Formats: sequence, C-alpha cells, structure tokens
Amino acid sequence: AKQEGRNRFKCFTPAMDTVMRERIELEERLRKAVVRNEFFLHYQPIVDMSNSKVTGVEALIRWQDPTHGLMAPDRFIQVAEEIGLIIPIGNWVIEQALKDLAEWRNAGIDIKMSINMSGRQCQQKQGRKFVEHLSNQLGYYQIPAQSVNIEITESMLMQDTDECMNTLNCIRGMGCEVYIDDFGTGYSSLSYLKNFPISAIKIDRSFVDSALKSQSDANLIKAIVMMGQSLKMDLVAEGIETEAQWLLMKAMGCNYGQGYYMSKPICATELKAFIQSQTSQ
Ligand code: C2E
Ligand code: CA
Ligand code: CA
Ligand code: CA
Repeated sequence: AKQEGRNRFKCFTPAMDTVMRERIELEERLRKAVVRNEFFLHYQPIVDMSNSKVTGVEALIRWQDPTHGLMAPDRFIQVAEEIGLIIPIGNWVIEQALKDLAEWRNAGIDIKMSINMSGRQCQQKQGRKFVEHLSNQLGYYQIPAQSVNIEITESMLMQDTDECMNTLNCIRGMGCEVYIDDFGTGYSSLSYLKNFPISAIKIDRSFVDSALKSQSDANLIKAIVMMGQSLKMDLVAEGIETEAQWLLMKAMGCNYGQGYYMSKPICATELKAFIQSQTSQ
C-alpha cells in the first residue's frame, strides 16, 4: 500500500502540473477565440466516382490562434465539447458554411454542403436548438435543405441513442440528409444502423489506407459496401490519397470519394476556382 501511495504521489509531478496548466490555458484561449472569432473554414471536395465531378464539399474548421498559429480541429474540438463551447462554435460553422454555399450558388455552382455535428449538439435541448438554428440559416440564405448533409460519427450514435434519434429525425424531416462518419471504427451492427435516418456511410480513412495491404480489411470494406447498398445508402470513401486507392474503392462499389488525391481541404475562394476550372473543361 505504501508503494502504491508513493506511485500515486508520483502522478502529481511538475510534468502533471504543466499538463493541467496547458489545458487551462487552452480553455482560456478557446473562450477568447469564440469572442474574437478566430475561426475559419476549409472545404474539401467530395467527388462522384463515376465521372470525377465534385458533387459536394465537407466544411472543416480551423483556428488561427494569435499565439500558437494554425490549430487543426483535432487539437481543440474535444476540449470545446467538454466545456460547452462547441455550441457557439458549431452555430458559427453553420452560418459560415451556408454563407459560402449561398455565394457559390449565386455563381451557378450547385453542390452539397456537409457539416460535422458533435454529440453535444445532438442532445436534448441542444438538439432542438441545432435544428432551429439550421432551419433559420437555411431560410436566411435561401438554401434548399436538400443541399445540406449533417455528418455524425458512428461512436456518437452508439452513445446517446434516444436523444440523438429524435434530433436526427428532425434534421431528416426538414429535408437535410444525415451521413454517418468514420464508419467501421465503432462496431455498430446492421440492424442497429437501419433504425436511423441515414443516407450515406463514410468509410473511415484507416480502412481505405489498409485495403490495399490487408485482405481482411478489403473484405471488411466489401461487407460495409454490401450492407450500405442493401440499406439503399450511398458510400463515401474517405482519405483517398493515391490512384490505386481511388481505383480500388471505385471497384469495390463506393459511389463517392474524398481525399488528398482529388484535393486537400481548401479555402472558399480556391474551392470556387477549383470547381469552375472543372466545369470549363
Ligand atoms: P473528419 O470529419 O473525419 O474529417 C476528415 C479529416 O480527414 C479532415 O481532417 C481532413 O483534412 C482529413 N483528410 C481528408 N482527406 C485526407 C487524406 O487523403 N489523407 C489524410 N491523411 N487525411 C485526410 P481535419 O480537417 O483535421 O479534421 C479532423 C476532424 O475534426 C474531422 O474528422 C472532424 O471529426 C473534426 N471537425 C472538423 N471540423 C469540424 C466542425 O466544424 N465541427 C465538428 N464538430 N468537428 C469538426
Ligand atoms: Ca466528417
Ligand atoms: Ca471521417
Ligand atoms: Ca475522423
């Protein structure tokens, strides 16, 4: 017991102190970032694999932190969720993404917008507020609900089923589509999935990456594709980086692809130019 006590004491070292201080400091910077609006969006094309045309984009948030530089979402989204800031941040993402989409539509570019949604935004009162905000913004920018996809992760579905189901049904009822993100990482079953109003499955990048190297991962993708097809869902392969991956995912029956091979996430202006160069070909 004494030994254990000593080990436990060891946890509270200066290193631990640093971790906690950094966390508190990050929270403070994040609160300021919301007030000062230090965020911006990048858009990554989603491509129809049958003709290589861009049919949509996914909005991906970035944070230009004045002291630490460019921050990728993996470095702050989870903290934002934990301290509730994901609500104002998520609302801003909807506003900015629809504003940009409205501008592209005015320029004759008719594509779909995929927006990521956190578990926190789906629960109870927050879920209702999310639906209300989305609906208001669609009206304000005169965007048909059919032009918007909401992406939720497989793990989120498995955590708070009932509350989530209610929110997702409202989103679907409005006319938006719901995509399930990072699929394959959460071990959900076929019977489970079919209860949710899901239009498309995004196959996680980790499988796309290993499909060429591992027969068992290739088989898994094949199974996901067959399951999706039997449920009349679209299939999006995420994280396609090479031509070989593109060809394999297409051969396996994915209808859509997304990844650095087609385009990295880019700013709104670059995205517009990217699509205009494609349509003028
Ligand atoms: P995600 O939803 O799975 O988004 C795809 C991520 O994969 C993006 O990372 C994208 O840049 C990256 N990616 C795309 N193609 C490739 C590829 O070919 N190779 C590789 N290695 N990576 C690729 P990003 O932008 O860093 O976003 C990370 C995660 O942060 C997202 O994963 C999503 O879960 C979350 N996120 C981003 N924006 C938002 C947001 O507005 N709201 C919420 N709640 N989460 C967001
Ligand atoms: Ca996503
Ligand atoms: Ca994903
Ligand atoms: Ca992910």
